[in-house]
Amino acid sequence: QRRTLIAGNWKMNGSLSANSGLLGDLLAASIESASEVLVCVPSVYLAQCDALLAKTSIAFGAQDVSAHQSGAYTGEVSPAMLADFSCKYVIVGHSERRAYHHESNELVAQKSLQALRSNICPIVCVGETLEQREAGKTNEVVVTQLQAVMDVLDDGALARIVVAYEPVWAIGTGKTATPEMAQEVHAVLRKTLAERSAFAAEKVRILYGGSMKPDNAKELLVMPDIDGGLIGGAALKAVDFLAIIAAA
Ligand code: 13P
Repeated sequence: QRRTLIAGNWKMNGSLSANSGLLGDLLAASIESASEVLVCVPSVYLAQCDALLAKTSIAFGAQDVSAHQSGAYTGEVSPAMLADFSCKYVIVGHSERRAYHHESNELVAQKSLQALRSNICPIVCVGETLEQREAGKTNEVVVTQLQAVMDVLDDGALARIVVAYEPVWAIGTGKTATPEMAQEVHAVLRKTLAERSAFAAEKVRILYGGSMKPDNAKELLVMPDIDGGLIGGAALKAVDFLAIIAAA
């Protein structure tokens, strides 16, 4: 049985004081959930998370990582550096990075591979644009994105990743995929994993992301192949994030 993962993606938001307020509110709620709870923060705040979240029920992660382990890559942060701060997860290939930083499927695959080498679990984001959906290309797009990552991992490593299906048209727009639309894509992703390894298909959690809110979380999270959520806007408000955790 896969453990539900409720992950917040703070994106480029926060400050030392705002973070301590938000994390303080989450900790004060003494979350009693069977789900795993995670916040993915800007890398400069990993030390703050390490200090505030060590030995609590809230895990933390980063939002991007270098595809290299060290060297002359100005501005980049290596997987080993994330591991230095007890970071457990890293988002890779978010659609904002694919769009604004031109990240290719191959680069996302290398980032995933290098993160795993430092024992950090990559949350691999896939998803189609509105144009691709309307052209009937959704399945082809997400399978190609996942396949590039599968190509560089052995079966053992593959079983350790998390996948996040985030339709680009649903991110920050207030439009969510219906539970049926999301389930259909999640099932395609699971089948793609199964064609390579039945074990990995059984283990890998596939999260839904894109305008997940307290009022639509439950209907999405009950679907058989939706194993959690990757939450943007609603993860910045403790009441909303807690309500989504409670819905899981
Ligand atoms: P929103 O929940 O704000 O739509 O963002 C989703 C997202 O991109 C999470 O990674």
